[in-house]
Amino acid sequence: MPELPEVEHVTNALRGAVLGRAIENASLLRPRLAPDSKPAAFAKKLAGATIQSITRRGKHILLELDNGNTLIVHLRMSGRFHLLNPDDEDPKFSHAIFYFADGERLVFQDQRHFGLMKIVKTKQLHETKELSKLAPEPFSDEFSVEYLADILKRSNRVIKEFLLDQTKVCGVGNIYASETLFLSGISPRKRAKSIRGKSIEKLHQNVRVILSEAIDLTKTIVPDPVIIGEGVYGAGSLMRWRVYDREGKECPECSSPIKRIRQGARSTYFCAKCQR
Ligand SMILES: [Zn+2]
Repeated sequence: MPELPEVEHVTNALRGAVLGRAIENASLLRPRLAPDSKPAAFAKKLAGATIQSITRRGKHILLELDNGNTLIVHLRMSGRFHLLNPDDEDPKFSHAIFYFADGERLVFQDQRHFGLMKIVKTKQLHETKELSKLAPEPFSDEFSVEYLADILKRSNRVIKEFLLDQTKVCGVGNIYASETLFLSGISPRKRAKSIRGKSIEKLHQNVRVILSEAIDLTKTIVPDPVIIGEGVYGAGSLMRWRVYDREGKECPECSSPIKRIRQGARSTYFCAKCQR
């Protein structure tokens, strides 16, 4: 599943491809992609509107239109955008199409069928349930050491699961949580509220270090003229993980074997010696 760095990559690529373009018409081919609107209403809210900004909040891509609406897109497992010419055929699993005046069209393809779209009034964007509870963006001033210290001390959960909670810390997925904790020397089994002082500072810093590393790596992906943000599902494989997916292999710091445990039905990788 794309995590924050990959969604950031697709957002930037989409901005380069379709920002400022007018949607002449739209077609929702798979109604469950946008369960809150009927296909006709979905098309009506987009027709004639120009895309005036493309941003990201958490793992949501926000396409703000000049008609007062914003299209929220969540790629989930496998959603991807194609920018096609009139001569190109729609790919298999095309679930929504946005037609531009010059004949090109943006097609949302989703092999796994988990993607989601929603059109909301831009004025109410941050009150929508998808966005209202999200923690501050990890690179914003709001996500401060003080903020982190405050929410840590109020949580009895183990730190690994705490990091995955998007209402506490935004943008840290399963892979990045293991890596962040390793870099911070914190055991994934430690209770959030028992983390104090310098460890909080390290954790705060390393959330940003790990996410920046991944974002920088996605910038090395050669852009594809058709598939917007192509390569993004392989971005994880560009990373040289320190502990993630390295069970039994040597810890890069102390050479002890990396351990894998299950936490909340997901795998956590860590070094029992380096992480206390
Ligand atoms: Zn180690």
